[in-house]
Amino acid sequence: MTISEIRAWGLKKLRLSEMENAANESIWMLEAVTGWDRLTILTDGSRQVDDEVAADFKEMIMRRCRREPFQYIVGEQQFCGLTFKVTPAVLIPRFETEELVEYLASKLGESSVGKLLEIGTGSGCIPITLLHRLEKWTGVTVDLSEEALEVARKNMELHLEPGQLLLLHGDCFEPVEETDYDLIVSNPPYIEREELQNLSREVTGYEPHMALDGGEDGLDFYRKIIVEGRGYLKKGGLLAFEIGYNQKAPVEALLEKAGYTEIETLKDLYGQDRMVLAVW
Ligand code: GLN
Repeated sequence: MTISEIRAWGLKKLRLSEMENAANESIWMLEAVTGWDRLTILTDGSRQVDDEVAADFKEMIMRRCRREPFQYIVGEQQFCGLTFKVTPAVLIPRFETEELVEYLASKLGESSVGKLLEIGTGSGCIPITLLHRLEKWTGVTVDLSEEALEVARKNMELHLEPGQLLLLHGDCFEPVEETDYDLIVSNPPYIEREELQNLSREVTGYEPHMALDGGEDGLDFYRKIIVEGRGYLKKGGLLAFEIGYNQKAPVEALLEKAGYTEIETLKDLYGQDRMVLAVW
């Protein structure tokens, strides 16, 4: 088959399955299987594609038609300018989370020195991009899922200097031995139990349940991290969360009750409350 024939086949399948970004996704998948760039794929349509490569492409298209997230199919997602490996063991890094990293990196400043602790790393996107920018910082991160830690380890090896980030297996603070952190950051599972079933099929069918389920009211991890985090932060250290669009008031109330100061909530690019910061 030629590249233009196979592209037309993929595009048609994706369109029939009502995939919104069909045109781009079929090109991106072709880039992934052929190793050719977008321009070649678009302008050199008569190029022949090997049968094996065509079969791989068709398989990718069929997975996408079953609503498997594009990122799991190609195995990658961009985050803050870096490429992250992703598997169904980890949440796919989100645009909103990039804003948390950008905000923290500029607030702390590239020449600053410190150590951070992250709770719930998934792909490792938050501490890896932070430490990539804050070169004088070191960090520790924790995840309950060993499979997620394997993915985070690969990403860490791709993007960080050896020894900059330590990965620990366990439940929240349980495996953390040091204290006196300058920053604790987390994008914890924060979906309310009842809301879980209303998420899109791409999310509920493929992303790890453990990374989404925030307990009955979605606030389980905020409660725990806010209270226990006090024992791990330096006085004057910063606590930073990603939150759900409707969690500003309860998370701020939990922080106030626990004695944090300078509590501020910031909106994401969609205008939703998305980040909460507080000083211990
Ligand atoms: N820290 C990871 C991320 O932001 C994982 C978050 C999670 O699993 N809830 O993508």
